[in-house]
Amino acid sequence: MKSVVIEQPGELVLADRPLPQPAAGEVRIKVHYASICGSDVHIWRGHNPFARYPRVIGHEFFGVIDAVGPDTDARRLGQRVAVDPVVSCGHCYPCRVGRPNVCQTLQVIGVHRDGGFSEYALAPAANAHPLPPSVPDKLASLVEPFTIAANITAFLQPQPQDVALIYGAGPMGLTAIQVLKGVYGVQQVLVVDRLPERLTLAQENGADRVFNNSEIALAAQLEGVQPTLIIDAACHPAILAEAAALASPAARIGLLGFSGEPCSITQQALTSKELSLFTSRLNSHRFPQVIAWMEQGLIQPQKLVTHFFPLAETARAMTLFEQDPRTCCKVMLQMA
Ligand SMILES: [Zn+2]
Ligand SMILES: [Zn+2]
Repeated sequence: MKSVVIEQPGELVLADRPLPQPAAGEVRIKVHYASICGSDVHIWRGHNPFARYPRVIGHEFFGVIDAVGPDTDARRLGQRVAVDPVVSCGHCYPCRVGRPNVCQTLQVIGVHRDGGFSEYALAPAANAHPLPPSVPDKLASLVEPFTIAANITAFLQPQPQDVALIYGAGPMGLTAIQVLKGVYGVQQVLVVDRLPERLTLAQENGADRVFNNSEIALAAQLEGVQPTLIIDAACHPAILAEAAALASPAARIGLLGFSGEPCSITQQALTSKELSLFTSRLNSHRFPQVIAWMEQGLIQPQKLVTHFFPLAETARAMTLFEQDPRTCCKVMLQMA
């Protein structure tokens, strides 16, 4: 089978690999579509501290179960599935309290183990979530990026009367807009980014007001509006301090960034307004919820898709995704 392998940082090859055999409790998926995420590029560039090489990347993928391991339900053969990349132990403290995404021995498919930029991939049977016919093949890999928004909003508990502010109109910001508007009915969703093309996409995804902070600071443009809910989907370490300064008293702030750089903020900036700070990593069992949202038409994954490439052109697709944030949002890979 053909697989996209990062042999070592900087070295991406389309390799011929033996067809993997599912172990007990696992299924094998014939992958049809996958989508590129920033973290795939980080593994390629050697910027992901968790990645081990060589690695088949890809954690957003869709396909059909074509083999099951010993003692695994054979009735699942032929099932269309989206794969949750979070593989957890099930018995450590975070797993016991429903937070498998921060399992003590967390393994992420496409990061710690081989992923879905491949003609076939293995996953624990429980991670392969069946899809209703109303979720089309071409869009099914986008369940995963929406689970990121599902996870942070589960902490933030958005209310219709919230004034929400989202930093960043990349894929994470756009999924957050859609979830705040379509699922939670938040009446005012404000979005800030530095690229006008991305702000146009934000409006197409439901943003009520957009702000370009490339030249004029956001504070000067908000004219005293104090957001009650803020999501940092731009993930720059400088944002938290600004968000705390702009936030309404009693606001909630959600952080999605994974930078190793320190960020500087005083206790007073948080405590004087009694701000709540939530962090969110990957997703905790959010696949069924997002699949239901898609089925009910509450979110529109097609609005994120800008490009399709065949698997053989993954390097070109990832380069475009990396270098051209003005025209790229979700770049999709088609296996066959
Ligand atoms: Zn991702
Ligand atoms: Zn665990």
